[in-house]
This record gives sequence, C-alpha cells and structure tokens, in this order.
Amino acid sequence: MPIPQPIAEFLLKRMLVITGIVEDLPQQENRIEVDKDGKIRLFHKFHSYDVFRSRYYMTKLKRVFRSAGAVLCFGAMGDKDDIHTSHQVGTTRFGKDPNTSVLDEHCRLHDHENVFVVDGGFMPNALGVSPALTIAANALRVADTILQKAII
Ligand SMILES: Cc1cc2nc3c(=O)[nH]c(=O)nc-3n(C[C@H](O)[C@H](O)[C@H](O)COP(=O)(O)OP(=O)(O)OC[C@H]3O[C@@H](n4cnc5c(N)ncnc54)[C@H](O)[C@@H]3O)c2cc1C
Repeated sequence: MPIPQPIAEFLLKRMLVITGIVEDLPQQENRIEVDKDGKIRLFHKFHSYDVFRSRYYMTKLKRVFRSAGAVLCFGAMGDKDDIHTSHQVGTTRFGKDPNTSVLDEHCRLHDHENVFVVDGGFMPNALGVSPALTIAANALRVADTILQKAII
C-alpha cells in the first residue's frame, strides 16, 4: 500500500536511508550458462549463511542507530529476490588446482597456455566491495607478468 503523499514528505525530510552490503559467498550452483537455444541464463541463490550475516548486520546497524538517537529504525533485506545480483565475478576463477579453478595464478587457462582472462571472472569471490579497481589492478599485474616472464 503506497504511503500518502503528505506523510511520505514528512518522513522523507526526517529519514536517513543507509544501505549495507553483504558479500555473497561463492557457490558452485551459482553460475551463468548458455542453453541449447543460445540464451544466457543466470542461476543464483543466496546461501543460508549469506542471509544469516545480512540479518546479523542489520540488527547491529539498528542498535548503533538507536544508540545514536534514531527514533524509529526500519530494515529490509534483498534476500527474497534470487534474480537480483550485482558485481558477478568468479565465472573463470583462478587458483592452483585445475579441478577447482579455470585459470592459474597468472590468469592463464590451465589447459590453454596461450589464453589469459583478465576480467572479473578471475576473482574467486566478490570481496564485498566494488570490484572494478581490483579487476583493473589484476589486469595490470598479469600484463606485467606476461612481459617480465615472456610467458607467451
Ligand atoms: C550500474 C553499475 C554500476 C557499477 N558501479 C561500480 C562502482 O561504483 N564501483 C566499482 O568498482 N564497480 C562498479 N560496477 C561494477 C564494475 O563496472 C564491473 O564489476 C566491472 O566493470 C567488470 O569488469 P569486467 O572487465 O569483468 O567486465 P566489463 O567491464 O563488462 O568488460 C567486458 C568487456 O568485454 C566486452 N565484450 C563482451 N563480450 C565480448 C565479445 N564477445 N567480444 C569482444 N568483446 C566483448 C564488452 O564490450 C566490455 O567492454 C558497476 C556496474 C554496474 C553495471
């Protein structure tokens, strides 16, 4: 039910909206696939531990705000919507073990030595912060390694 306009205006002048971000843990079942018709499909579910941490975080935040003088605290979590995701990473995660990773530590495919992947796919998990700088820094690291070691 929509909030009547005068009440919404009254509240908005006195409200502070704060968003807290909790990282999704990496899960094998969360993935992007191309189906037989060539359509890209995203599979995503929150782990129960992700939901637990979100609730825990929200409870703590409310306690902090109440201690700081907030009169009313409302909280909402995004855990009902399994389609909403952001900052997807890890589709070609790096690691030492070819059984659990696609790329080696130089972001080179374990089984194709002339292919390097330097986009967000290399990251094994999402860090819980915006990833663009890490992605760019890693691309520079890999480029340096390729040059220094002349590994192509
Ligand atoms: C609305 C929005 C806001 C964001 N805000 C932030 C923020 O504030 N801070 C932050 O750190 N991150 C932010 N991000 C996330 C950040 O932009 C991404 O995590 C990052 O850009 C991912 O880098 P990438 O190299 O993996 O992919 P991309 O930056 O998406 O690069 C992929 C590139 O590959 C190209 N490409 C795709 N398919 C092909 C193909 N078949 N052949 C050739 N080229 C191809 C694309 O054109 C693109 O240039 C935001 C993302 C969105 C959508």
